Amino acid sequence: MERAATRHLYLHVPFCPTKCSYCAFVTHVGSLKLADRYIDAVCREMDRAAALRPCGPLDTVYIGGGTPSMLEPAQIERLLRRSRELWGWAADAEISLEAHPATVDEARLHGYRAAGVTRLSMGAESMRHGELAELGRSHGPETVLRVLGAARRAGFKSVGVDLMYGLPGQSVESWRRGLGSLLEARPDHISLYPLSIEPRTVFAHRERRGLLTLPPDGDVAAMYDRACRLLRSSGYEHYEIANWSLPGRRCRHNLAYWHNHEFFAAGVGAHAYLHPHRTVNLSGTRRYIERIEAGESPVAERETLDVPAALGETVVLGLRLLQEGLDLADVRDRFGAAASSAVREAALPLIARGLLVSRDERLILPERLGLLGNEVWQRFVGLNVPPAPAQVA
Ligand code: SF4
Repeated sequence: MERAATRHLYLHVPFCPTKCSYCAFVTHVGSLKLADRYIDAVCREMDRAAALRPCGPLDTVYIGGGTPSMLEPAQIERLLRRSRELWGWAADAEISLEAHPATVDEARLHGYRAAGVTRLSMGAESMRHGELAELGRSHGPETVLRVLGAARRAGFKSVGVDLMYGLPGQSVESWRRGLGSLLEARPDHISLYPLSIEPRTVFAHRERRGLLTLPPDGDVAAMYDRACRLLRSSGYEHYEIANWSLPGRRCRHNLAYWHNHEFFAAGVGAHAYLHPHRTVNLSGTRRYIERIEAGESPVAERETLDVPAALGETVVLGLRLLQEGLDLADVRDRFGAAASSAVREAALPLIARGLLVSRDERLILPERLGLLGNEVWQRFVGLNVPPAPAQVA
């Protein structure tokens, strides 16, 4: 079987206006002095990737960060133009840009749209003033609603909003009210993430000193349940554990991750998957630029996936898709009949306990287990797969 062409590209923009209290991403806070040199470097990294693996056209491009909306539309246009020159874009390509509400106005949004962006993903994180202050965010909920309206007028095909729950001082009721106020504006796509305390963040430091009071686990589970019910009754499809959309508005780029398809990536700290390798670029914006300017590879880590590892990833990622689930026919096509049988076998005890549902050659995680998938994932890690010709698309 021929391997499918790589049709997805991620570009990382590290610049951020301030550092949020929970954030462990690769970011470069403050000055944009390096921005033009950085964009040149990312374009050169794209040149390298395209020379190594010429294919396309791209079905999706995702510019994430960091805060890509700190860049001018002309700078975003340079990145997008280079990707299009190198690989081409499919006729209905989805081009996403992450935006911080405090960094955009109507003119800037029109500029991004003119540069080719079709989908805006806005990190609102909360719709409550006090919570936003705790998170170290420099905007209020009214800014989120204003940007949503401006994005619609600018003509984006889809506008998504991210929120977090399980925040310090948050109750189930305050969470419900915040989510409800967002739903009045009816974004096309909503991502909801439970707060996780990552090492080397402001929140981790506060937690160590006993200065962080988080809601109990039972309340966090109740927040997830409330969200599921509220979004369902508002017409949203819960298509991935943390993602809901109006019909026809799913994020195709992220679907490619969950289908475990290959993707190119460029930029500081960027992760790529070009089978059998997963790679991570070095962190440190200046070091990244210097490495590229010296004509060297920015890759800092490279993992070569064997068949059990690739299969385990495919299963765990596929089970995150709550509606379509893991397609066993796809597993068979990519990894062979023995692998598909091994997955089916491993699933049997979970099906018997109601932790998985088997339907139409698919395995599906029940929505109520969205926050409790670990027990299910463990079952598929390191599956003992008999050697078979593996073909990973
Ligand atoms: S804006 Fe996003 S990437 Fe930047 S510091 Fe905040 S959470 Fe991190």
